[in-house]
Amino acid sequence: MKTILKSNITVKEICDGFVYNELEGKGLFGLSGKLTIQPEYQRNYIYASDGGKKEMAVIESVLKGYPIGLIYFNKVNDSNLEVLDGQQRITSLGRFVNDKFAIKDENGMPQNFSGMAKDKKAKIWETKLLIYECEGTESEIKEWFKTINIAGVPLNNQELLNAVYSGPFVTLGKEEFSNSQNANIQKWSAYVSGSANRQEFLECALDWVSKGNVGDYMSRHRFDKNINELKKYFNSVIDWVSSVFTDVESEMRGPEWGRLYEEYHKKSYNPTKVSAEVQKLYADPYVKNRKGIFEYILGGSVETKLLEVRVFDEATKKSVYKEQTTKAEKKKESNCPLCALGHDANKEKIWGLNDMDADHVTAWSKGGKTISKNCQMLCKTHNRAKGNR
Ligand SMILES: [Zn+2]
Repeated sequence: MKTILKSNITVKEICDGFVYNELEGKGLFGLSGKLTIQPEYQRNYIYASDGGKKEMAVIESVLKGYPIGLIYFNKVNDSNLEVLDGQQRITSLGRFVNDKFAIKDENGMPQNFSGMAKDKKAKIWETKLLIYECEGTESEIKEWFKTINIAGVPLNNQELLNAVYSGPFVTLGKEEFSNSQNANIQKWSAYVSGSANRQEFLECALDWVSKGNVGDYMSRHRFDKNINELKKYFNSVIDWVSSVFTDVESEMRGPEWGRLYEEYHKKSYNPTKVSAEVQKLYADPYVKNRKGIFEYILGGSVETKLLEVRVFDEATKKSVYKEQTTKAEKKKESNCPLCALGHDANKEKIWGLNDMDADHVTAWSKGGKTISKNCQMLCKTHNRAKGNR
């Protein structure tokens, strides 16, 4: 049996010439007519049942950039392909781009493909599917399926990739990263979540070294007889994190270290100072997002939005607004203190509550607290200008 992996066929190409047969409930053709989506022996389209949750999930995955899994084609002859596995996903895509169903947008409103923003449409059109093209007899193909679907336990993404790119590289990679006897696992667990035997350390190492293009990387290195680059890169990242951050906090377990390493490993840090800052931020009740602490410090402690610092509540804003506005009206000047200092038409403007935002008089990063004494209301323009300083 011959098998070829295709990783550059886009949703647009697959959906070219897509026909959906309402009567039979079948997606029929794609790839400009070359692809038969639902050969006679396949079951009908079922993703539209149950309120269409499954077909919506396919589209949402594509929009978020999540993989929708491997798709298998059977090569019938040079001009004909059949979908062996993946017909439900392909039919979902074809039905969506033909406005047969809608997904829900951020506000819970139904969203048709034709009414979508250009960038979202492009994201769907340009998404590439991972397709395995098989050529062989039916029994050969069935045999192959059996080997990759071990006893009915669904394979996760990395396990599937390991099957697809099986060879010396994967074998060595598993020996290093998927072996729970490896003494390094405990150290790695401080920074990587998941388990070795479900391939999550290997997945993370590949994700870091390939900058997110795991499939490409595995394909290029499939027949390598060593994993030197993979190991070296992974260890560089781990060594870097553990030398910059000497404390180990549970929020450090995440997949972002590869990106942060690329961005910051050339900068120098004083571990003692870094540690003191980590401790200070952990103790700060205003910091809502502790996972953001590490990137915040690496970036020089300026991007406070990474920390999701607590904001003023509505009651505080209202009372500060009222007090500020009463005073301003008496003085016949704007209730935005910065507008009042200016010389233009807004000098005496009284803004409505909704036209203003709450601002920390002393910035949170300079020790200013989120309490009404440290709150002032500014017009939206001035608040934005201040925030960008
Ligand atoms: Zn203003």
